[in-house]
Amino acid sequence: MVCDQCSLSSVIRMTSLYKINEIFQTIQGEGVFTGVPSVFIRLQGCPVGCAWCDTKQTWETDEADRREFQDVIMKTQDSPAWCEMTPEEIVKRYQEQGYTAKHIVITGGEPCIYDLTALSCAFEHVGCRCQIETSGTSEIKASENTWVTVSPKIGMKGKLPVLTSALLRANEIKHPVGTLKDIEQLDTLLKQARIPEETIIALQPISQKQRATELCIQVCTERNWRLSIQTHKYLSIA
Ligand code: SF4
Repeated sequence: MVCDQCSLSSVIRMTSLYKINEIFQTIQGEGVFTGVPSVFIRLQGCPVGCAWCDTKQTWETDEADRREFQDVIMKTQDSPAWCEMTPEEIVKRYQEQGYTAKHIVITGGEPCIYDLTALSCAFEHVGCRCQIETSGTSEIKASENTWVTVSPKIGMKGKLPVLTSALLRANEIKHPVGTLKDIEQLDTLLKQARIPEETIIALQPISQKQRATELCIQVCTERNWRLSIQTHKYLSIA
């Protein structure tokens, strides 16, 4: 699963740096890969500002929160602490931790504020598959084989538009839904971007709210879209 970009990116891999908030192994709880054992790499930094964000500790990159990797990997609760690593160092740590999952979820924060080409290629070199979870508000730079999940964040505090290029790169558009207005906004986005038919569309109720869940079930059934449930929250796992 090594893409053409990999042969070009060995120099980039040695110079790219990523700010890591946490790395942990769990089960992917939502979207197409629900149930797949995964290693999550959570990157620090997000300018989007969703009111209901459950990873607000990743928003700011404060120099006072810089730590050594060992402190970051030993985290037992959410914190804004981060460390800086090259793709090689991240893959080495993945191997040294003895993780068994081959599915790597690069998330955040907003991971696409970074160029993820070197990181995704580095993991593909050791036989892994990468998935990015992004808001679609930054250009997506990753290996060709990377699975891209865009959860469009529309009209948030950071006032960043959802990019058509991000929607067109998406393999999966997983839309957070609270009310009917969210579905109307998604309809507008899909229409403007002319999304290809093969792109998977999923609706995901925000914060397991019952009315949102019922609305998502109704609309998914009518349109033959998928329902994405945050199963990790029901299971109380990370
Ligand atoms: S894009 Fe993600 S990390 Fe950023 S504010 Fe929204 S939910 Fe939180």
